[in-house]
Amino acid sequence: MFQHLRKLLGRDATPAPGGRREPQLVDRLSPAFLAPVLLERFLRPRALDRAVRGWPDEMAMPVVRLLVSQGHVAEASPAESFAVLCTVPKLQGLLRTHSLPVSGNKDTLIHRLLDAGVLPPASRPVYACTGAGRELALARQVEREAALQAAASEALALLQAHRVADASRVVRQVRERWPAFDDIALNFNPLAISGDTGSDGVVETALVAAPGILGSVSPEDLQRLRLAVAIWHLGLPRPGMSTALAGFTGSGRFDAQRACQLLLFFAKNSAQVRRLTRLGCSAAHVSFVTPCPSCAALERKSYRIGALPELPNPGCQGDGCSFIVRPKVLGMD
Ligand SMILES: [Zn+2]
Repeated sequence: MFQHLRKLLGRDATPAPGGRREPQLVDRLSPAFLAPVLLERFLRPRALDRAVRGWPDEMAMPVVRLLVSQGHVAEASPAESFAVLCTVPKLQGLLRTHSLPVSGNKDTLIHRLLDAGVLPPASRPVYACTGAGRELALARQVEREAALQAAASEALALLQAHRVADASRVVRQVRERWPAFDDIALNFNPLAISGDTGSDGVVETALVAAPGILGSVSPEDLQRLRLAVAIWHLGLPRPGMSTALAGFTGSGRFDAQRACQLLLFFAKNSAQVRRLTRLGCSAAHVSFVTPCPSCAALERKSYRIGALPELPNPGCQGDGCSFIVRPKVLGMD
């Protein structure tokens, strides 16, 4: 799989027009780049197979070897390994097979086993940061937080000026430079981690959206929600949303989180309608998951694509019922 990936990424190695050498994906997937990303996983002792889960072995194992050779990660003590690998019932089971007493807390059980010469299963090695590794990992976390926070502030300012493409670039760059473990695990491609911005216009829509269901929100709070949803969709939810939502006073009906969800539903629904229109779809239904009576009433008919009811339904009597827009396919409904 990794070979295939390298082949795919090979095309990235061409220098960008203008001569400046762009950072290459192949560099980013090198053990030296990935080592600090994986190091954080060992801030507490972890079974190796769990720590690298989601990364292909061909990619993960050289990184682990590098971390060990640098002295930043080492195999955990037998007591730590027992604590990570075994639950209390499992430890008690082991004690029984060795005819040892099963009373006491987890620590007592572990030390009773070790005193009797019983070792944790060697098939699942457990690793942890060394002192030096821990210092490095914590320092990186601080640096990464600061970089994400700075990028979030910059992207929010750009979004406020409706410079969506520039904001998207800022988010993409910081996430490429500071990927999280899961970014790489899920995609094997740090370039693919940032949200889709252009094609369906979700971010653009979110920046101007005024869904009726949020009608009770003040204009200032609505603007905060718009920015929060835009930065969420671009891919910096944690530092970005809390900055955008600072000072949010709420609608009395929805808290900030629910209000953001409803605004995102609105933007995504608008994008979906545009997509269906492009595809030549002329009619659609709306479907709710456990609708309130007011939303249930919208479900019973089919609508021309230009005359779909606004979703989320401003007249919703519940907590902003969830829904989807289903295209009406000729001959199937
Ligand atoms: Zn409803």
